[in-house]
Amino acid sequence: MTTLTLWLDGTLHEADTARVSVFDHGLTVGDGVFETIKAVDGRPFALTRHLRRLARSAHGLGLPEPDEDEVRHACEAVLKANPMALGRLRITYTGGFSPLGSDRGTEGPTLVVAVVEARRRPDTTAVVTVPWPRNERGALTGLKTTSYGENVVALARAREHGADEALFGNTVGALCEGTGSNVFVVLDGELYTPPLASGCLAGITRALVLEWVGAKEADLPLDVLERAEEVFLTSTTRDAQAIRRVDDRALPGAPGPVTAKAMRIFTERAAADIDP
Ligand code: PMP
Repeated sequence: MTTLTLWLDGTLHEADTARVSVFDHGLTVGDGVFETIKAVDGRPFALTRHLRRLARSAHGLGLPEPDEDEVRHACEAVLKANPMALGRLRITYTGGFSPLGSDRGTEGPTLVVAVVEARRRPDTTAVVTVPWPRNERGALTGLKTTSYGENVVALARAREHGADEALFGNTVGALCEGTGSNVFVVLDGELYTPPLASGCLAGITRALVLEWVGAKEADLPLDVLERAEEVFLTSTTRDAQAIRRVDDRALPGAPGPVTAKAMRIFTERAAADIDP
């Protein structure tokens, strides 16, 4: 991993010497929000949508609204300082210094923007389902907070089974999302994805696939994965990625025709518009 120069609280720093308090609330209790943004040749993809989601997540967590101009400037400054063909820009915005406990600190939030080099993901992947439900009615549902422990555990489970993503159902047994991705399925040739009410994150790639390709939002029982003709994931780091195995079920021929079409349309539209 190369991360060279990053933005921390108002200015650029060398990554090796940048310092955040060990009592930062983001570190001690996960009181923070974040965004991961794809950067192609130094240009952030869908930055405006990411900044809007960052603001929504911060608002939902009760953090002061991030200064959009500062965050935008920080992203541009970090990308300029770290030239790379394909990068993953990471904005982390936390509750800042706080004595131990769950009360919020008084010294204001911490903002870090860093970029690491990224590799294109393969076109197909394997996933497992996990038995722990996503809570579609929690205080943090739908917010991109740094409380990702549940995702870390589920992804580790996936790796143990030779897969590289895990899919969650929710508390009523409906299909929800992955640890870092949204999910689409093809049934009788029609494309479907779970609605936001399922508890999934309002993925930016998901929204773009809905706009550019078209799909129906529908409550889908988890066992849809046993009969779907095609399944694919969407995320910033994947775009659209076909699934070739769900648990023990192989989906030979992935990407199937609907998935391949979605992948193609997404790639073409994303290449034509850097901030859709
Ligand atoms: N769900 C979760 C839990 C995620 O962490 C992500 C990655 N941000 C997504 C879905 C996909 O969202 P996006 O397309 O905005 O990357």
